[in-house]
Amino acid sequence: MTEIKRRVLMDKDAPNRSTAIVNGQSSNVLNWDDVRFSWAYPKYKKMLGNFWTPFEINMGTDVKQFNNLTDEEKKTFKKVIGLLALLDSVQTDYAGKVADYLTDSSLNALMIILAQQEVIHNHSYSYILSSLVSKDEQDRIFDFWRTEPVLEKRNEFVLKGYEQFAENPTIENMLDSIVYDVILEGLFFYSGFSFFYHLAREQKMVATSTMINYINRDEQLHVDLFVKIYKELLEEYPEYDTPERATKVEGIFREAAALEIEWANDVIGNKIDGLDVEDVEDYIYFYANVRCNQLGYERPFEGYRKNPLKWIKAYEDVDLGKTDFFEQKSRQYVKVNVQDNGFDDL
Ligand code: ZN
Ligand code: ZN
Repeated sequence: MTEIKRRVLMDKDAPNRSTAIVNGQSSNVLNWDDVRFSWAYPKYKKMLGNFWTPFEINMGTDVKQFNNLTDEEKKTFKKVIGLLALLDSVQTDYAGKVADYLTDSSLNALMIILAQQEVIHNHSYSYILSSLVSKDEQDRIFDFWRTEPVLEKRNEFVLKGYEQFAENPTIENMLDSIVYDVILEGLFFYSGFSFFYHLAREQKMVATSTMINYINRDEQLHVDLFVKIYKELLEEYPEYDTPERATKVEGIFREAAALEIEWANDVIGNKIDGLDVEDVEDYIYFYANVRCNQLGYERPFEGYRKNPLKWIKAYEDVDLGKTDFFEQKSRQYVKVNVQDNGFDDL
């Protein structure tokens, strides 16, 4: 059991560029041109390029449309927002805890930006709900994680993995917690996302789905960052890169997919016109395969190599550097200051 030490605040005798991903030496001074990992600075630029805030998004049309949603759509809408609010809250804190144990100051910096983005995600849920429902209702939705049994089971699954690391920071526990992280950021959001994209495809609640889209885009970068850290850990501690670990991770993904499917049946089921829960299930298997494979392991589910919800692609693959998101045809909303957002310069 290799324990991981916290990064020290300052070390006069250590170099600015750290000597290891964890348990190394680092002065803790951040010079972006003198960091351990060559991917850190490009990642930093990408994360900054994603910057957005809910204030930029006009909820006017969504406010009018919300009352015209079916009761089931409204119910699902609220449940999914309630779920996301919990996940992003926990994620903010987890990112901070991981940051404390990464030796290189640039990785600490990336974790802090990641955590800041999670704060914005939570802000967007408050912003969406305060536009659409009463304060009492908003408070109730933010408490769903306490009262919904399916949700509780699913959250406990991830939290267990996070807590183990928080309470006992060893290499093994950090590796495991990153697997749970990739599940949280790369799988547990996804049936929720599919619901909002489905609404957007029908020209409903487009402002909300725009925020969901931005969150989705952030999460893609977050998953990639954690995957990189996972792989560097295994590189520096190859004794943990074992067939047993592969089997363990694949098992965790199977369990995660089962929980996510249970949740999808609860919130989407066959209640949402035009969105088949069977397709969402396939989408979950597909993403479980993608994420497990990103971490360097076999895909746990035979088949499921292609995204069964093809139309989601258009929403997922938004990259402000390449596509002009605001010109996408399915989007009709007002965004202020499009010209001065600076995205074009990045
Ligand atoms: Zn988030
Ligand atoms: Zn995230």
